Amino acid sequence: MRTVQTHSPEETWALAAELANELPPGTVIALHGDLGAGKTCFIQGFAAALGIDEPITSPTYTIIGEYEGRLPLHHIDLYRLSGPEEALGLGLEEYFDANGITAIEWAERAEGLLPPDLLHIRIEVDEDSGMRTFSLFRENEA
Ligand code: ADP
Ligand code: MG
Repeated sequence: MRTVQTHSPEETWALAAELANELPPGTVIALHGDLGAGKTCFIQGFAAALGIDEPITSPTYTIIGEYEGRLPLHHIDLYRLSGPEEALGLGLEEYFDANGITAIEWAERAEGLLPPDLLHIRIEVDEDSGMRTFSLFRENEA
């Protein structure tokens, strides 16, 4: 387990950029944290570091966004998932085989459908200071 604290969106982008330069193609990242914790912010920084200049948004109707950078990035946001059956219908496996990076917000909503070597990133917000604590750990360390 590695923990990193960030005090601004810029510091979160810096952490994401560091990981974008380290993680091999095929990595699947499961992001956990409340609404507003910084999951999308992290993915935006990750995308920028991959050379993606399209804006990464939290899609209202689409669940999966695909972006082309130095590596392809798949951004999956399961917040609006109605239930496990809908998760099954998304064909998530297709993204995990890819030569790109997949980053999933609210990944716990697809529990059981995710690959075994998942990289988990949990974001916790300190209410008083707004500081974010990022905890990074592999599925088998969970
Ligand atoms: P989520 O996707 O987890 O719901 P977002 O990334 O959309 O959250 O929003 C996070 C919000 O918190 C943004 O408005 C961002 O500017 C703000 N913020 C403040 N401090 C940080 C930080 N250290 N890291 C990430 N976001 C931060
Ligand atoms: Mg989000």
